[in-house]
Amino acid sequence: MTVKVRFAPSPTGKLHVGNARPALFNWFFAQRQGGSFLLRFDDTDRERSTEAFAEGILRDLDWLGLKPDRIERQSARLAEYQAAAERLKAEGRLYPCYETADELERQRSRQRARGLPPIYDRRALKQTDEERRALEEEGRRPHWRFLLPNFSDDPFSPSRTEESWHDLVRGEQAIDLASMSDPVLVREDGTFLYTLPSVVDDIEFGITHVIRGEDHVTNTGAQIALFKALGAEAPVFGHHNLLQSEAGEALSKRLASLSLQSLRDEGIEGLSVAIFATLVGTSEPIRALGSMSELAELFSLDKVSRTTARFSHTELLALNGQLVATLPYAAVAERLSVLGVAAEPAKAEAFWEAVRGNCGTVAEALDWWHVVAGPVEPVVADEDRDFLSEAASLLPAEPWDGATWGAWTGALKQATGRKGRSLFMPLRLALTGLASGPELAALLPVIGRPSTLARLNGS
Ligand code: GLU
Repeated sequence: MTVKVRFAPSPTGKLHVGNARPALFNWFFAQRQGGSFLLRFDDTDRERSTEAFAEGILRDLDWLGLKPDRIERQSARLAEYQAAAERLKAEGRLYPCYETADELERQRSRQRARGLPPIYDRRALKQTDEERRALEEEGRRPHWRFLLPNFSDDPFSPSRTEESWHDLVRGEQAIDLASMSDPVLVREDGTFLYTLPSVVDDIEFGITHVIRGEDHVTNTGAQIALFKALGAEAPVFGHHNLLQSEAGEALSKRLASLSLQSLRDEGIEGLSVAIFATLVGTSEPIRALGSMSELAELFSLDKVSRTTARFSHTELLALNGQLVATLPYAAVAERLSVLGVAAEPAKAEAFWEAVRGNCGTVAEALDWWHVVAGPVEPVVADEDRDFLSEAASLLPAEPWDGATWGAWTGALKQATGRKGRSLFMPLRLALTGLASGPELAALLPVIGRPSTLARLNGS
């Protein structure tokens, strides 16, 4: 069997870091099994879906390093859903209901008041064609419910009917179809809710594994029943834990700060977000990795924990810093030049290697570039003036390399008797204007002799 998975976002908002998880899980699952990854836009809600959101999702996935093998849009497949609905109607599995939202709410309150679960009692099934016609004449239009197969002969006497599956994350699962209302598949205005299009697509696209958040566990019982009603075998399911915000809330499209776009705008690497979103809430520690293939090697649904996962912006930033510190020059050369690091390649490479361990994001390298290129405000204490003139006179001739700093400060130590902090700190303050920063041994050759000399002389 060739594995086929899908990631099915609704283009009604921006993807956030929690939505990245099912995308990545499906992607890595397909990668590990030599399968294919379908991106399906669940855009049957024409009012809330926009092309701009769909484009944003494509950009986000690309940034994460995910390349869909195929892209489908539900809005282009309405005829298929209509055909499936007609089949179900003809078989009596999809029935019209004329209640208004208010009427349904009143029925539910009455049930609750009597201590009964608020499950739809299928009263619309009892209506005659004549009654329906009368309702239509009143101007009512039906919504359509899927008759759950939770009874033997009499739909008004449902009995416990378990739909069960072996979940790739949660193990054995069972949902009692008698514990829920017949789901509405088609709205009054003829538009489809998510359930039927999703099942029709999963069948027609040959989806073998449905991997998604555990907020869909309760939908799965009815969906399996629908697969069977449409004459298909249900795919394998895996429901992963959800990611909560730092405050412990469910992530939502309203939390703009956690959108993938805002993380990208903050300068965080796509790979950092991919690592964080894949490893958070699993038994693998979150750590910097060199590539998506390394991450794919670590991925397994067996490692996903059953408890909720917690987002941490601080942890994501720390991870990004670790990752940036390992990025080779080739991976950032173009970005550095766009940022304004104007140096010939050999110098730019030496610069990057000197500063990458001190950058939370690649863009922060620009701050260090300003330190290297100057002008800097050298910080010189009165008692260090003679020491710095001595340092200037002992400054080796160019060419400089990684050993220059050691040779220079060794000679300075001999000449002045200074050591440790009193030897190094005045040099750092004079050369960079800052009390901390990248290793001076690496930075010195990039600053170069003329600038170093000028800064030692306090200019
Ligand atoms: N559009 C649905 C969602 O975003 C897809 C759920 C599924 O994977 O079946 O929740």
